[in-house]
Amino acid sequence: MKKKRIVVLGAGYGGLRAIKKLQKMKPNAELILIDKNNYHCETTALHEVAAGTADAHEICYSINQVIDQKKTYFIQDTVVRVERKLKLVLLRKHAPVPYDYLLIGLGFEPELFGIKGMDEYGLFISDIPSVNKIRKHIQDQFRQWTVDHLNKRLIIAVGGAGFTSFEFLGELTNRIPELIKRYNVDPQLVRIVCIEPTPNALPTFNRHLAEYGARTLSARGVEFVIGRVSGLDGEKIYYKDGEDPKSLLAGTFIWTGGVSGSSVVNRSGFEQHRGRVVVQEDLSVPGNPEILIIGDCSAVIDPETGRPYPTTAQIAMQQADCAAYNLNARLEGKRTKPFVFKFMGTVCSLGRDDAVGEIMGRNLKGRPASIMKKVIENRSLVKIGGVETMIKKGRFSITK
Ligand code: FAD
Repeated sequence: MKKKRIVVLGAGYGGLRAIKKLQKMKPNAELILIDKNNYHCETTALHEVAAGTADAHEICYSINQVIDQKKTYFIQDTVVRVERKLKLVLLRKHAPVPYDYLLIGLGFEPELFGIKGMDEYGLFISDIPSVNKIRKHIQDQFRQWTVDHLNKRLIIAVGGAGFTSFEFLGELTNRIPELIKRYNVDPQLVRIVCIEPTPNALPTFNRHLAEYGARTLSARGVEFVIGRVSGLDGEKIYYKDGEDPKSLLAGTFIWTGGVSGSSVVNRSGFEQHRGRVVVQEDLSVPGNPEILIIGDCSAVIDPETGRPYPTTAQIAMQQADCAAYNLNARLEGKRTKPFVFKFMGTVCSLGRDDAVGEIMGRNLKGRPASIMKKVIENRSLVKIGGVETMIKKGRFSITK
């Protein structure tokens, strides 16, 4: 009898972890992994490349080097959509790939909320090309300032004051002194402005830690402005403080104000909200038990709040373990198990040697939080890439 086929879309935290788990379970099935890139990217470190404090190669590693190529066949291509009735995955370059079981882990895309000019003038922290673009853009603005002395080039605005924004701002404040020195710029002319609609920055943390984070960034020169961004035109950022229209002249605008699940989910006709499908308790799609969705494309409702858990690498990896188990169970005709999220804590980096975190009910800040962040990152490198990858790519320095 022909072997069944499990196809996994996306080699991110969820997809690659699930493949590694499935390989260990030795299911009686063909395993196919599809990703648009031939590398796995540590998305949680993208802000470092954006700010220019790390290079892209430091946060990426080859997919083929960490999977067992005898057990998993990897296809590098972009998924266009899933044809559920025909059980086919449509790809940009390759022929459609049939599946018996499908696991979707295609991650997130920036959510622009229809803000005018955002797709043309906004910059995003979403993948390697997008963060390389930010790094180059900021550097080009400094270089160009030495030619035309237009001060707006030295104003960097960031929309949103959540987790990604704070992590980026922390790195940026570490990077700016280097640019000031290299291009011989008067430090007084450089401004970093964070625009956020509410006074509650870093809402995923308790007030004590959020305020520590905001104070730390303010002390390094970040200006926090209350406002809802309403448009960009390449010259100015327009925002509203209540009903008052305001604008800011800036050479760079980075949007961290929202993400949605992959647009493939929407294009494939799943019932979704902002690219996220509310999955069944075993992570399958209502009405399609052969399809499981994990990571940023999925929504799992937190029974305590009645709202979906925030999208994180942490939940994506835990879902991956459950999804691998359930795919194998389906193959073997056994019962699937429900996914139960175990919150292990969270740490937000504030740049070199500083962070805030909540770990096992304890508040951490400063260097201890920063060390904890590295421990978490190294742990996920082991879980996905293996020990060898962690040795090559791990974070060991206390000061970086
Ligand atoms: P991803 O890991 O994003 O992987 C998606 C994969 O799908 C990628 O390999 C991509 O190449 C591939 N792909 C996408 N579209 C296509 C397509 N059409 N065709 C083929 N392949 C495709 N979470 C934490 O838990 N802790 C943190 O400290 C943390 N820090 C963060 C910092 C930043 C700057 C950002 C941006 C996010 C952070 N997150 C953090 C969130 C975390 O990165 C995401 O929740 C996590 O990456 C989701 O995992 P995933 O498997 O769903 O998707």
